[in-house]
Amino acid sequence: TTFTDLGLNNELLKALAAEGYTTPTPIQAQAIPGVLAGRDLMGIAQTGTGKTAAFALPILQRLAAERRPALRGGTRALILSPTRELTTQIAESFRTYGKHSGLTVAVMYGGMPFGPQVKAMSRGVDILVATPGRLIDHMEQRSVDLKGTEILVLDEADQMLDMGFIAPIRKILGKLSHRRQSLFFSATMPREIGALAAEMLRDPLRVQV
Ligand code: AMP
Repeated sequence: TTFTDLGLNNELLKALAAEGYTTPTPIQAQAIPGVLAGRDLMGIAQTGTGKTAAFALPILQRLAAERRPALRGGTRALILSPTRELTTQIAESFRTYGKHSGLTVAVMYGGMPFGPQVKAMSRGVDILVATPGRLIDHMEQRSVDLKGTEILVLDEADQMLDMGFIAPIRKILGKLSHRRQSLFFSATMPREIGALAAEMLRDPLRVQV
């Protein structure tokens, strides 16, 4: 399988070639066509499997295929991740793969000053990568409004559970439209994580690597 076979557009293929990626990893080969077609996804995968590109590439393509302005304070795609480090890495991946697509990427995590994050969100962005606690702070002070979010990713769900983020995540889910596409990733599937996935996903494509 090649990235071309998976249905990715030329802007993305060019960025992948510049990164030296020649072949999709197994999770990329299994996940990308379904996510491009709009399906929900449950991915059981560890870090190092290429899971970030497995969600970032089809999200970039879907957003670029139907360009529209984000709502004020809103985002078209929301990626929730447990730590500052992972949030930064995911945003970097979106910027690298999306460098020819003209889509905007913002990051939000605790410990950063609020002012620049509020300013970055004021016009709306295409992609927001955030930790749950800081995102809730912004929702409460009304600098973020998630109702127009089209795609949600929950990354490292089992680590979110260990860090006590399940209640904040449920609160965030309550503000999202039911018409969204949802992608769920976890390295392991303890019972509470299985329950959260069942609440979040509709007829998901299941991929385990
Ligand atoms: P991840 O599992 O998303 O943390 O990715 C692990 C590493 O693999 C990252 O450094 C990516 O840049 C790299 N990577 C992801 N997909 C590919 C690919 N298809 N070919 C080569 N490297 C890749």
